[in-house]
Amino acid sequence: MDVKKRIDELKSLLNHYNHEYYVMDNPSVSDSEYDQLMNELIQLEEEHPEYKTPDSPTQRVGGEVSSKFEKVEHERPMLSLGNVYSEDEIRSFDHKIKKVVENYTYTVELKIDGLSVSILYEDGYFKRAATRGNSLIGEDITENVKTIKSIPLKIDFTDKLEVRGEIFIGKEVFNQLNKIRQENGDELFKNPRNAAAGTIRQLDSKIVHQRRLDAFIYYGFHDGFTHHYDTLMTLKSLGFKVNDKTTYCKNIDCVIDFINQVEKIKHDLPYEIDGIVVKVNELEYYDQIGYTSKFPKWATAYKFPTEEKTTQLNGIEFQVGRTGVIKPVAYLEPVDISGSSVSRATLHNEDFIKSRDIRINDYVVVRKAGEIIPEVVSVVMDKRSGQEKEFEMIDKCPVCHHEIVRKDGEADYYCINPTCDAKHLEGMIHFASREAYNIDGLGEAIITDLYNDGLLSDISDIFKLKDIKKTLVNKERMGEKSVENLLKAIEESKNNNLDKLIFGLGIRHVGAKVSKTLSKYFKSLKALMDASKEDLSAIKDVGDAIANSLVEYFHNEDNLALIRDIQSLGLNTEYIDSTLNKTTVFTNKTVVLTGSLENFTRKEAKKIIEDMGGTVSSSVSKNTDYVLAGDSPGSKYDKAKDLGIDLLNENQFKKMIDLGE
Ligand code: NAD
Repeated sequence: MDVKKRIDELKSLLNHYNHEYYVMDNPSVSDSEYDQLMNELIQLEEEHPEYKTPDSPTQRVGGEVSSKFEKVEHERPMLSLGNVYSEDEIRSFDHKIKKVVENYTYTVELKIDGLSVSILYEDGYFKRAATRGNSLIGEDITENVKTIKSIPLKIDFTDKLEVRGEIFIGKEVFNQLNKIRQENGDELFKNPRNAAAGTIRQLDSKIVHQRRLDAFIYYGFHDGFTHHYDTLMTLKSLGFKVNDKTTYCKNIDCVIDFINQVEKIKHDLPYEIDGIVVKVNELEYYDQIGYTSKFPKWATAYKFPTEEKTTQLNGIEFQVGRTGVIKPVAYLEPVDISGSSVSRATLHNEDFIKSRDIRINDYVVVRKAGEIIPEVVSVVMDKRSGQEKEFEMIDKCPVCHHEIVRKDGEADYYCINPTCDAKHLEGMIHFASREAYNIDGLGEAIITDLYNDGLLSDISDIFKLKDIKKTLVNKERMGEKSVENLLKAIEESKNNNLDKLIFGLGIRHVGAKVSKTLSKYFKSLKALMDASKEDLSAIKDVGDAIANSLVEYFHNEDNLALIRDIQSLGLNTEYIDSTLNKTTVFTNKTVVLTGSLENFTRKEAKKIIEDMGGTVSSSVSKNTDYVLAGDSPGSKYDKAKDLGIDLLNENQFKKMIDLGE
């Protein structure tokens, strides 16, 4: 092997992946694939130091600084962390420290999978926040970080103080974000880290606010601080969110115990972690133990092995979404990953499959990306038998056999037949869903059933079901009472506010939030339909893609016919300002939910609180106004009690809703 050539190749690949990961927030390879290449480069450079250069990705912190933001020079470098992967390697990390200093202890912390932030306080006030960037220079993200509720804007500490921590998106918020993106036909965030990084580097702080970021703080810098664990406790008492799993350890055995404990509960945490961070507590030793150009030697990260499995790919099929987007799906020999059986995985798009040369019958590596759909990562080339079938992209819609097209600059194909069955069925399911028109009792199974029986073929048919009540009652599993309830829910839904109708129509790129903006702005469906591309683009939060999509939608004859139908059926097409003169018990209040409720799912309770002007937060702090506690409440209940926060039981909650204000 030509070592120099391989080193150059690895450097160039890793630089390219760094750019995708840190700048575009859109990696094309998995972290483990990246780590493998990085480890190969580290090893080659160790064996051939003559080829090691200061600009190698092994020597530099990976991020870059985008010109979209003001630059910030860090007072002290924001370094990365070295990695260890096994108990032996942790012991060897400890060994190296023991050679330099005596009488040291450790703090062990969860390694939150987000992105690091530095926040400066002066005279007790939040002054400035910055990304890590290239470790010396970061990006000024002050306005965006101010939207994170768990970061105090004022603290009881007047000396200059810098804290550092990890900004992240909780699993629940991440799943909701991706669900909305999926419904809008937008590309999904690969994992919570990319979602958080993409969000914090948004130019519009309003969008940042909506995405509900959170942050744990794990460093504090002040001349008076001498001990890391004590620093964290001081920061906690100042109101910073310090992770409650953080543990003081007298020796390395305690560190290893901690890792073993966390391995067992990591899937139950409400946020993603990718390892454990071990730090020496005694700050006086830091210079003695030292630093590399990339990380401190007094700390390290133990990385959990990525949960990837190899299995055989039995076939590739295509799914058509309601926007007509066509997605390849891998059908797999079932395999257990992180406690559940996986038999289908996304293959993203044609380019993804071709660039990895994925073939039918191949053995493939599969993993769970964040909390959502599993994905195929790569092919195990060594296992090829010659029986594999090369992938060919389809050229017709798998449902209606109409022509499909790949739009300029996009990786996905679309079925362009406006009357494609798949689009109609998916479109109706979306329309009736809770997030859209919210028709109680009209779920995916019933819609599919009625559709297969020819009783529903597009959205307007939903409102004509009352004309075929007898047929419905005679259908298996439907019964008189449930049909009555369903028809009542359909009739009541006609009074829904305009944004629900706009979102329900399933216009590409037009999600629930944008629908609300449009509804408030235009006040009627008619005014929205008459808007030009320029009118639309002038609205904050409405980019070119959304404006184009709306204009295209309202110029399509089939869509116009559907809207005429809907209007004649009596659906509300005007904006109703429900906030007029209305303050409720939950207006501007922060509520935390814990335990299970008898009469509401968590999602329902959350929606009610939000509709009444409140916010639901996942953790209890002194900013929490109420904790709604159901059966078997968790530690949040105890914490709320300690902090003296008002506790509500389900009955009290119901009374407050009935009372309204
Ligand atoms: P890292 O994520 O391995 O570790 C350092 C970071 O950990 C810190 O900067 C901080 O943000 C974070 N952290 C979380 N909890 C912490 C705590 N309690 N205390 C201190 N720090 C904490 O290092 P990195 O330099 O940010 O990223 C390198 C890793 O990113 C790679 O190993 C790889 O897995 C991934 N990566 C992937 C790609 C890709 O294309 N898939 C590209 C570049 C990097």
